[in-house]
Amino acid sequence: MKIRDDIAELLRAGVPQIHICRQLHVAPLTVQRTREALGLPSPKTCRVLPATPEDAFAKYTRPIDGGHLQWTGPLKSRVPFFRHQGQHHYVRRVSFRWQYGRDPIGNVTPSCDVKGCVAGRCLQDRPMREHTESLYAAIFGGAE
Ligand SMILES: [Zn+2]
Repeated sequence: MKIRDDIAELLRAGVPQIHICRQLHVAPLTVQRTREALGLPSPKTCRVLPATPEDAFAKYTRPIDGGHLQWTGPLKSRVPFFRHQGQHHYVRRVSFRWQYGRDPIGNVTPSCDVKGCVAGRCLQDRPMREHTESLYAAIFGGAE
């Protein structure tokens, strides 16, 4: 294969593969093939980072029956959370924003019975909870 000088140079400088991909806009496979052609040792970790928060979200969620999404990613203080390009994202807030096109007010909590569900349509913020509570109050005559 034809070895690209720019890739070879970065590989020899010890630049991680993913950075080379980003910097030179080449596919991971191209970098890998170049590395092999040069006889350089394989990197200790070869982890392709998600390109967008949406990718990160998709990577860490598992669809379950009924349109729910189970979070399989990291937690911070027991709250679904991920880091993307140095930024911290609270999953429920992000998912809520994608679903409703606005930032949530107050805490975002799931409204369904699925533990750890982060599906946008299952999430509610404070005004939505208050609205639901006032509906229940109207129907059942209040909790007190
Ligand atoms: Zn749900």
